[in-house]
Amino acid sequence: LPHWYSPDTGIYNSKQSPINLPSNPFVDVVSHIFSHKHNGKTSFIDSSTGYSMSYDELQPLVKSMACGLHHQMGISKGDVVLLLLPNSIHFHIVFLGVLYLGGVVTTMNPLSTISEVKKQTTNCNVSLAFTLSTRVQELSTLGIVSIAVPENANFDTNMVDFLPFSQLISSNNNSLPTRTISQDDTAAILYSSGTTGASKGVVLTHKNLISGVELFVRFEASQYGDNNEDNTYLAVIPMFHIYGLTLFTLGILTLGSTIVVMNKFDHNEMVRAISQYGVTHFPAVPPLLKALTKVGKNVHRGQLKSLKQVSSGAAPLSTKSIEEFVQTFPNVDFIQGYGLSESTAVGTRGFNTKEIRNYTSVGLLAPNMQAKVVDNVSGLCSSPGTIGELWLRGPGIMKEYLKNVEASCSTIDKDGWLHTGDIVYFDRQGYLYVVDRVKDVIKYKGFQIAPADLEDVLVSHPDIDDAAVIGRMDEEAGEVPMAFVVKKPKAKITQYDVIDFVAKQVAPYKKVKKVQFVNSIPKSAAGKILRRELKYTFSSRL
Ligand code: AMP
Repeated sequence: LPHWYSPDTGIYNSKQSPINLPSNPFVDVVSHIFSHKHNGKTSFIDSSTGYSMSYDELQPLVKSMACGLHHQMGISKGDVVLLLLPNSIHFHIVFLGVLYLGGVVTTMNPLSTISEVKKQTTNCNVSLAFTLSTRVQELSTLGIVSIAVPENANFDTNMVDFLPFSQLISSNNNSLPTRTISQDDTAAILYSSGTTGASKGVVLTHKNLISGVELFVRFEASQYGDNNEDNTYLAVIPMFHIYGLTLFTLGILTLGSTIVVMNKFDHNEMVRAISQYGVTHFPAVPPLLKALTKVGKNVHRGQLKSLKQVSSGAAPLSTKSIEEFVQTFPNVDFIQGYGLSESTAVGTRGFNTKEIRNYTSVGLLAPNMQAKVVDNVSGLCSSPGTIGELWLRGPGIMKEYLKNVEASCSTIDKDGWLHTGDIVYFDRQGYLYVVDRVKDVIKYKGFQIAPADLEDVLVSHPDIDDAAVIGRMDEEAGEVPMAFVVKKPKAKITQYDVIDFVAKQVAPYKKVKKVQFVNSIPKSAAGKILRRELKYTFSSRL
């Protein structure tokens, strides 16, 4: 057996040498990031306007934002600020400003409906929001004060239209209140459905975010021995999700690389951005990888020649997609990575050498992390080559689910293991493979959808007695939500009524795509929906 696996304890240790994380308990993630010195020149470029921001400009803007939030908006340590924003070169200034002050950021998909916003902001007690100007009025109906953030960056011309925002970033940056932030203080609350139930607040501390920076982003970059300042990353994946957040608002800033920010995905715009700004690194999710393969087959190859590395994470990727990508881009390094919101995106990362190119694996365990692979039936630990549920332990693991002791205890056990709900195995070289998922979550283009959230909406319909939602395989999106619905006696609703009813209340990516009427929903003795049974029945009919 390999030395990094202990058959006595069932623990897989990382093959990588441990990384020193800051030992001082009073370090916040923003100071940590700014303590990394590099010679990077351009930090961000707005792909649509070409506006760029230097590394020298970044730090004063973040400090101004922190001071402005405190003195103009009354935000103090522990206050929660919502970022309901698409990617922009302002996103990270707000994010880092709030954190630098000791505030807490919660993020949401900017397409979320007002009822979804209400649910989350009530749960985490939001004091202030940053959003697009089109949503300020709507948020005020929830009693939330919000600040409009320009979608595209061009500080010189259009900032008068965004006066409160421009006042914040131009406020005196020397008047920061005395603040003591410890690594254990909460920094961010992201929402995830975890293994079961409705969306829950994933409480991430400064220590967690520092781990994300060091064990995911900096570690991955260090493996290649590149001069990071020469690298340019394309930021298409959303910064409101843990993957984009850890990379683009935190980790890459310690490398000195340039980040080209796209606020909307568009095929032509993607090609133009790669070619115009010489993008070298493209962190993607499966549908983006497919989109890139497609354009790679059609555009003049010279337009994409700057690409050096493309990675995929956040959702399963089919072997077919990988093969097509690798054939289309034989000179681009392709890797997969695995992580969760609950682990601050720290998990495993691929690493190719001349000898080993494990494209279907999600890579090796990150430094400082441990894993177990546990058989769900017997509870026994599995050795390399055998499948089971992945458990993770280490500094990336969240503190808890917000105000939810039951879910926190069932997800992180008393020994500190996070039960991921993913079925995996390690091979004898230590590479991890994700083979299935036992948790309820649906992954639509890498975005999370909690079936329980949709079921809540469904049963609020006066003609619906009961409902269950599962993920149905979909070529383009990976999975789409499908609803099984029990109608009330004599109810006359159609599939389309149900689809329409849900669509009006949820963000577009959460829409139910298919409805099947059934007589009853299979449930366990304890009343839990037997989703796997539904999935099996459904797929066996195909
Ligand atoms: P999230 O918290 O939204 O990042 O979702 C985390 C979940 O996404 C994991 O528990 C997996 O189910 C899935 N996931 C993340 N990365 C991968 C990957 N590379 N391959 C397969 N599934 C993945």
